[in-house]
Amino acid sequence: MGEERLPAYELEPYRTSLATTVVEAGVEAGKPFAVLEDTILYPEGGGQPPDRGTLNGVAVLDVQKKDGAIRHVLAAPVGPGPADLCLDWERRFDHMQQHTGQHLLSAVAQDRFRWETTAFHLGPEVSDVELAAASLSAADLARLEEAVAAEIRAARPVVPRRVSLEEFRALPVRTRGLPEGFSGDVRLVEIAGVDLNTCGGTHLANTAEIEVVALLSTESLRGGTRVFFAAGGRARRRLKRHEGRNAALRVVLGAADEALLDAAKTRLEQLSEVQKKLRRAEDSLAEAAAEALLAAEGRVAHTHRDGHDMAFVQTVARRFAEKAGARAALVTATAGGQHVFALGAGEAFGDVQSLGREIAALLGGKGGGSGRVFQGKAAGLDGVPRALAHLEGREP
Ligand SMILES: [Zn+2]
Repeated sequence: MGEERLPAYELEPYRTSLATTVVEAGVEAGKPFAVLEDTILYPEGGGQPPDRGTLNGVAVLDVQKKDGAIRHVLAAPVGPGPADLCLDWERRFDHMQQHTGQHLLSAVAQDRFRWETTAFHLGPEVSDVELAAASLSAADLARLEEAVAAEIRAARPVVPRRVSLEEFRALPVRTRGLPEGFSGDVRLVEIAGVDLNTCGGTHLANTAEIEVVALLSTESLRGGTRVFFAAGGRARRRLKRHEGRNAALRVVLGAADEALLDAAKTRLEQLSEVQKKLRRAEDSLAEAAAEALLAAEGRVAHTHRDGHDMAFVQTVARRFAEKAGARAALVTATAGGQHVFALGAGEAFGDVQSLGREIAALLGGKGGGSGRVFQGKAAGLDGVPRALAHLEGREP
């Protein structure tokens, strides 16, 4: 490898625009891409997502290292020649806050609490570190968060630099592992007085710019603990969303913040009680409806109940069928514009399932059933008189 020229994103991580040149333009898997003389857009790597931006006004959708070059995947082709590159700074700054926040969080967790970081994920909403700790209590999290906050308040400079392999071997660097066959310089990032680590990402210049690392929750995994966090502007935006949600819940539940959970639990218990009562009432109603059908004259009876569902007509038909002997009953209902029906018949009336399919056809619907009850949905109820006549006309 010859003299390595460092990309602008590494030399000037706060730079948001660059006049450069497209040195290669192509298409791969249907996606146009460009390789530039230099770039301020960070290619995905080291757990940090790729930057976005524009190249001559065309959206850069992805940035990846490939065969020693940095490819900018574009929304539309851009020809070779001079080019203006712009960085989506809001997105980048957010990544720098999460990423630098993670450096600090991991360093403090290891040095103050002996919880080593085994993995890191930078997500679109929340990020997480996996700590080598069997479990973490709320008090542990509070102490960790406070210790990180103290280092943010201390406004420590964050300084990247490159060193030779010889220098690297002599330095107290936290993570020693380098890729197999690694050659050239090693890039280090130092948080003054707190951390010295290898990293190729983009970082804030000072811990004060992290603003805050809010520890959100934990999850056990593989003998360790995953700690979810949000840093900087993300933490503040998240707090705003939570405040908005709380305000809406206060109105809906008519309770203050501290009483919201109890108010919600009480409402759910009340709902469950009401549902039980409703089920009992529907049962009594179904029983009464079945008795009324049994008391009616003739071999075939019909009742229509507005505002009831399939379960109800089915129950009425089943109760009726239990005592029906050689009689049949058609129960129909309409609720929310939906028509349902159930056919119940005694043992001596005939095969309820085949009769049910005939009734379903007469009502323009379909259904199924078992034993002495067949239920289904109907397209409409205009066919009810014909269905009843069909049942009446059936030889016992
Ligand atoms: Zn880093």
